[in-house]
Amino acid sequence: DSIDMTYLRLEGITKRFGSFVANDNISLSVAAGTIHALLGENGAGKSTLMNILSGLYQPDGGQIYLEDKPVLINSSNKAIQLGIGMIHQHFMLVPQLTVTENIILGTGDRFNLNLRHKQQEITELSQIYSLEVDPKAKVGDLPVGVQQRVEILKALYRQARLLILDEPTAVLTPSEVESLIAILRQLAAAGQTIIFISHKLEEVISLCDTVTILRRGQVVANTTTKASSPQQLAELMVGREIVLQ
Ligand code: ADP
Ligand code: MG
Repeated sequence: DSIDMTYLRLEGITKRFGSFVANDNISLSVAAGTIHALLGENGAGKSTLMNILSGLYQPDGGQIYLEDKPVLINSSNKAIQLGIGMIHQHFMLVPQLTVTENIILGTGDRFNLNLRHKQQEITELSQIYSLEVDPKAKVGDLPVGVQQRVEILKALYRQARLLILDEPTAVLTPSEVESLIAILRQLAAAGQTIIFISHKLEEVISLCDTVTILRRGQVVANTTTKASSPQQLAELMVGREIVLQ
């Protein structure tokens, strides 16, 4: 059934910048409807891998599979077409425009025609996932946590089925983090597949089902968050023995 179905699979993904290997033969798989962490210290290669999945970079080697079919992600439009939604920070939104305008921007949908209808559609989408946001609000007036919800809605509006969030809690207050975590759990329960990129172990343990730990561009573990102790995960991440406070 869908619980055990692999949604995304990477086989041997490699990315070099000159002679530097940022992603070294990375393999992982993510089951549909689960939250998978990409955990690693700064410089481990997490964002590089995300940029490959979003069509920004081409890998030098390896293959990406979506639902067991090999795919070529050679542009951001292709990533969107394939149902991959990147959740960027607020600066990807246009602050002078409303929530609705930002969400439909670039889809070919017209602003003026059917604006009321679009607002209704976005309100319904936001209610399904408890992504509370006023579709008429100007994005620049909204707190960062709400702007992030607009980014999530934007991806859902484009019918994303795989959501990738790169260090999404870095810009949030503790209460915004709590609310993001609740939203991500609800999205996964509704069948969305989520990749949560972070260097914060506690967040990964509390939110994610499975985890790929990257160190210096290499996978040092593909495991579940429950199979290993926080101590083990932390040591894998940094590559030496440590004492957790
Ligand atoms: P992370 O997101 O885990 O912090 P990155 O994927 O951003 O790591 O970076 C991994 C390594 O690759 C870093 O050493 C970084 O300096 C290098 N790197 C990333 N992007 C580029 C680039 N466009 N050109 C050269 N080096 C890069
Ligand atoms: Mg990064």
